[in-house]
Amino acid sequence: MKIYCVDLEATCWDSNPPSGQVSEIIEVGLATLDTSDDSITKEQILVRPIASEVSEFCTNLTGLTQEKLDLDGLTKEDAWNMLLHRWKRGRYWCSWGFYDLKKLLEDSEMFGLKMPLHPAWHNNVKSAFGLFFLNGKSEGMSSAVEKMGLSFEGRPHCGADDAYNLACIVRELRKKSILT
Ligand code: AMP
Ligand code: MG
Repeated sequence: MKIYCVDLEATCWDSNPPSGQVSEIIEVGLATLDTSDDSITKEQILVRPIASEVSEFCTNLTGLTQEKLDLDGLTKEDAWNMLLHRWKRGRYWCSWGFYDLKKLLEDSEMFGLKMPLHPAWHNNVKSAFGLFFLNGKSEGMSSAVEKMGLSFEGRPHCGADDAYNLACIVRELRKKSILT
């Protein structure tokens, strides 16, 4: 089975968006956990923004620049197609919290694209983690990584690294939860 761990980054500002701009997805971090051998493949899909520009605040948070996205970013259509193609081979996908599902639904609607990852197959690992391990409390992904006896690898708020660490959590959760 393949499990897709998704972490999205979007254009952002330290307060409201400047007039005429809206927050939109600029990076899809995708880490694929292959349960046949427990390997994790990390991918960074960059997406060119069309309704906003990358602010300095956003660059400081995500590490992404407008120049990088102009150069290496896919169109939304291509990025969405890539996700749809992946999803058809795996179905289960997850994220840390609700943000990524909500944002993908919002952007799909806003830009007239088919939702590439079916919401029915989404797993919110943050809420599951809180339910099973924290007696109903919730916490950030980095502290969950440590609770699993791991250390966060890479740069927080880089979508690909966030997704990779999420996949490491999912791999550990599966190890602890498989019934024999
Ligand atoms: P994350 O997965 O935590 O890196 O966050 C996903 C997206 O949420 C970022 O790409 C930003 O668009 C937004 N975001 C996260 N933290 C902040 C923040 N402190 N201020 C503004 N936007 C943020
Ligand atoms: Mg992130």
